[in-house]
Amino acid sequence: MLPFARVAIVGLGLIGSSIAHAVRAQMPTVRLTGHDADPAVRARARALDLADDIADTAGAAVTDADLVILCVPVGAMRDVAEALAADLPADCVVSDVGSCKGSVAAAFAEMLPGVTVVPAHPVAGTERSGPDAGFATLFHRRWCILTPAGDADPAAVMRVSTFWERLGADVEIMDARHHDLVLAVTSHLPHLIAYTIVGTASDLEEVTESEVIKYSAGGFRDFTRIAASDPTMWRDVFLSNKEAVLEMLQRFSEDLTVLQRAIRWGDGDALFDLFTRTRAVRRSIIEHGQDDPRPDFGREHI
Ligand code: NAP
Repeated sequence: MLPFARVAIVGLGLIGSSIAHAVRAQMPTVRLTGHDADPAVRARARALDLADDIADTAGAAVTDADLVILCVPVGAMRDVAEALAADLPADCVVSDVGSCKGSVAAAFAEMLPGVTVVPAHPVAGTERSGPDAGFATLFHRRWCILTPAGDADPAAVMRVSTFWERLGADVEIMDARHHDLVLAVTSHLPHLIAYTIVGTASDLEEVTESEVIKYSAGGFRDFTRIAASDPTMWRDVFLSNKEAVLEMLQRFSEDLTVLQRAIRWGDGDALFDLFTRTRAVRRSIIEHGQDDPRPDFGREHI
């Protein structure tokens, strides 16, 4: 039995279009509607046949839906919720895919009082954005974290959970505040570090840009994948999850200072111990099926 029969997706970029593809593949009888603020994205979504109907306004997309998923940047959630509030059917469940949950919960509480809300965050993505970037298997064997409020309707939580399982994801339920702290370490801080390293390298004067690119296989290029992520999305993530990111950044700076001291004083044991621990973390990620087990991310070396 389908958890929802009529799904509306607002925001048809990487995540929104991937949900559309995955619903088409896994629940083909679901009636899909979509909307994006950008007319060019709407035109592209129609050309790609992402949904049965692509509406010109958020309100028109949701009038008949029993599940509405907001797939816009975190900073736009409040405005989108406000724009569609008046058109939501009474029995509809509203969800989202935002990378930070505390700020989105606050926006929904303000703009959608009395509406059944079950926030979600699929921990899956690529460095691409836009409607052409989506694909049906993006969520396969990836975690989707639901962060319902303590008094959320358990039946609605169960339906959203089943929806994500049907798209191939494994579902976990978490408190929004805890989610924001966990993701600050596993996602937000790594992005900030990648943005910094790539920025630092491109600012260097003694090493030319062509040298940075030419010798990037030494490690640099792996950071550039993360640092190529969507600027709007990531600006909003850092502004929305400020507290948790600043806390993790403080810890990171302290650990970096310890490493700096170990290098300065020639403390090889300290370096060796840390690098041994970090190698084990990589092994655990692979054992948990969260990355390609082949060396060098499975790149072909012909
Ligand atoms: P994306 O590819 O840039 O798509 C976002 C889409 O939303 C764009 O087409 C954008 O249109 C549209 N949009 C912006 N404001 C809007 C509004 N007010 N009304 C309607 N549409 C609007 O971004 P994405 O990667 O799919 O990210 C979407 C959400 O998923 C974000 O909240 C992000 O935090 C979350 N998320 C992302 C990832 C990831 O790896 N990318 C993973 C998990 C969760 P424009 O062309 O005008 O910008």
